[in-house]
Amino acid sequence: MRLIKEISQMKTWSETSRKNGLRIGFVPTMGYFHEGHLSLMRRAKELADKVVVSIFVNPIQFGPQEDFRDYPRDLERDARLAEEIGVDVIFTPKAEEMYPEGFQTFVEVERLTKPLCGARRPGHFRGVTTVCLKLFNIVKPHFAVFGLKDYQQYLVVKRMVADLNLDLEIIGHPIVREKDGLAMSSRNVYLSPEERKSATCLYKALCLAQEKVKKGVRIVPTLKQELEQFIISHPYTEIDYVEFCHPETLDPVKEIAGPTLLALAVFVGKARLIDNTLIEP
Ligand code: AMP
Repeated sequence: MRLIKEISQMKTWSETSRKNGLRIGFVPTMGYFHEGHLSLMRRAKELADKVVVSIFVNPIQFGPQEDFRDYPRDLERDARLAEEIGVDVIFTPKAEEMYPEGFQTFVEVERLTKPLCGARRPGHFRGVTTVCLKLFNIVKPHFAVFGLKDYQQYLVVKRMVADLNLDLEIIGHPIVREKDGLAMSSRNVYLSPEERKSATCLYKALCLAQEKVKKGVRIVPTLKQELEQFIISHPYTEIDYVEFCHPETLDPVKEIAGPTLLALAVFVGKARLIDNTLIEP
């Protein structure tokens, strides 16, 4: 496995691989790998001749009050785990090379970034789409794998790729969970043992919603109220949002009449956790 830090070297590696007719799969990450990341890499490995994984904690997608500085990092461990899977290249660009002085170009997807995390984290998706477009231009993959845990991010990146006629495919990969249902996340390390117990309330709330809908509850305000009460009955929790929306447009829905995305963001202690599921009536 190669560890590449410079943009020019990454470009050269990709150009050579493409000239040799190899199919490049790409998994962009912020590192501190868990089984969620690793399953994306395995998926890429199945579909590609060569797999590139980027590790870049992207400063421009964090708000001023967010956890950019504290975000967990462990490049040595990440490299070891990626190598075991058979990843070909780890690309870890420097922020100073990605955003040199004078940098002033950003990509913005409009409607899809307005609700959910977009409403609570101003500028977040602008940072995500900008870094993804830059990484796509540098790595030149044939496809990139994104986790459906960040469902809105997946839709937004897919939209950008379609709207800007980029030559790659975006593949969505299912959410990987701990045994008790908690969605894996690098941010789970922020949880104290007590908070970790409470954190299962996100997954439990998703299951509760599925059950209620199965039993015939279809009115969204009623469902929302029940889920919110359920979540805040767990210590250390504070709800950021509980939203039911159309799974493609992310428009809010008032009633469960077809497949509906239920998306949650909940603070558990200082960790902001997200989760989602597709509800089928
Ligand atoms: P991150 O390092 O958190 O930016 O995540 C990198 C990629 O891994 C993104 O496409 C995430 O959606 C995906 N990912 C993170 N956690 C999970 C999970 N529990 N299951 C599936 N994919 C995940």
